[in-house]
Amino acid sequence: MSFQKTIAKGVERNGVGLHSGVDVRLALRPAPANTGVVFRRTDLEGDAAAIPARFDHVADTRLCTAIANAHGASVATIEHVMSALSGMEVDNCFVDVSGPETPVMDGSAAPFVEMIREAGIKQQDMPRRVIRILREVRVGDDRSWARLSPADEFRLSFNIAFDNALLAAQSTQFHPGFHSFEQDVARARTFCLYEEIEGMWAAGLAKGGSLDNAVVVQGDKVLNPEGLRYEDESVRHKALDAIGDLYTAGHRIVGAYHGERAGHGLNNRLLKALFADRANYAIEQETADWEELRLVDAAD
Ligand SMILES: [Zn+2]
Repeated sequence: MSFQKTIAKGVERNGVGLHSGVDVRLALRPAPANTGVVFRRTDLEGDAAAIPARFDHVADTRLCTAIANAHGASVATIEHVMSALSGMEVDNCFVDVSGPETPVMDGSAAPFVEMIREAGIKQQDMPRRVIRILREVRVGDDRSWARLSPADEFRLSFNIAFDNALLAAQSTQFHPGFHSFEQDVARARTFCLYEEIEGMWAAGLAKGGSLDNAVVVQGDKVLNPEGLRYEDESVRHKALDAIGDLYTAGHRIVGAYHGERAGHGLNNRLLKALFADRANYAIEQETADWEELRLVDAAD
């Protein structure tokens, strides 16, 4: 079997919240086995402060994934931190935030990956569990949908298509056996259309948004002077978001995910549909690769 992991020590960063525009301090701290990922508001006290990063605590998915607890405490934009924790295989972690939103950093998951690298990863004395998909689950309509289906390992595919020359049609695939989360996914930034920015500002959103933390596209042009990090950065960012959203399942998933123009709302509905029927999934102990290798040896 393989074992649960946490980070070896606490690490902290300051940044600005994308929607609130407020300065926030984010710390990743080691957590005991079987904790999962729990966000804690350091500006609140007692029970009110802790919010498990689970699909059944997701309170808002309009522009980001926000979680809340029964005391009314919330943290918005958890998906990039969640993606980094999933991609780096950290099972247990406290994420301490000094306000109602995580810092956007550069709009990608790379700064959080860097924090995890700085902290180091520590194995814990408890078997790791995974969620195996047993039956196909699909939510959405013909145009936008998300699906989980049985597969031997986790893999992801994603298609986007926008009414925009640069974002017309892009596809990506992620398979941890062939791709590197750090190299191929984590660095992809949030993107938005120039035409949407005024509307968001009028609605009091994206106050902290700038060319330092989002790719801004106008027609067929990227307005960021440094250009793109990947030619298909936008669909890779959708993969990054989906990996983060799927981690609110509580464990990593063994199965195939496909997103067709899917966003945070569909990803959350997908997990709710998955867990609505016990026949859709099984929670298992993860087998380490070396164990499978030994089984192969034994069969010779
Ligand atoms: Zn995102």
